[in-house]
Amino acid sequence: MSVLPLLPGRAEGTAILAEKFESFQGEGPLTGQRCVFIRFSRCNLKCGFCDTPETWDWSRYKPSEVSERVPVADLVSWVRERAVDLVVITGGEPMLQQPAIAALAGELPGVRVQIETNGTVEPVPELADRIDLWVVSPKLANSGMDYSARIKPLALGALAATSRAVFKFVVADPANDIDEITKLVEEYHLAPVWAMPEGTTREAVLAGMDALYGPAAARGWNVSTRLHILTGAR
Ligand code: SF4
Repeated sequence: MSVLPLLPGRAEGTAILAEKFESFQGEGPLTGQRCVFIRFSRCNLKCGFCDTPETWDWSRYKPSEVSERVPVADLVSWVRERAVDLVVITGGEPMLQQPAIAALAGELPGVRVQIETNGTVEPVPELADRIDLWVVSPKLANSGMDYSARIKPLALGALAATSRAVFKFVVADPANDIDEITKLVEEYHLAPVWAMPEGTTREAVLAGMDALYGPAAARGWNVSTRLHILTGAR
């Protein structure tokens, strides 16, 4: 049975937001699609390479300065005004706020909803049925997190069972990471797989993709670019 994760101090019909903006999806299967991003604050992991530490690292940020509690109804209105057909809910770890996601998605019929998650939280049934695409990014040893914290078999199984999940892995060091991904994919029956280079510069992303083509092709995986890094867009 799924456990509904609730943030302390949760107020009905609200979400703890880090930011929201309109852009193009830069990663994964829907790369290039116009969309809005809604970034929820808070995370249950502390990855060393995290590029959104403002969602959880209170040794560096003040929660009151980098997040705000907002009515879900305001987010719904904001999405509708943008007239997009894709909403990407990301974080932090957005699955810590499943009631807010369910409320948001429920008010946006006809709009595709994608969730970017670290794959450690089981979806409640109403979300499992509603979400159009789960982009699940299990963290590797290079995150610095203990295996038991970053790999949750029940959550991975539940996400895979939706039949609308893809598993996207960030590859920092192909020599080590490819083998680790291969083991996880085999052990937890994760498919389809997308391998994406780490990198915050155009050169690093292109070099990383070059290094991934061969190993990905040999294993039946897909590769993802990082369009926002290549273009300089958000
Ligand atoms: S799971 Fe994602 S948001 Fe959370 S610490 Fe790791 S990289 Fe950052």
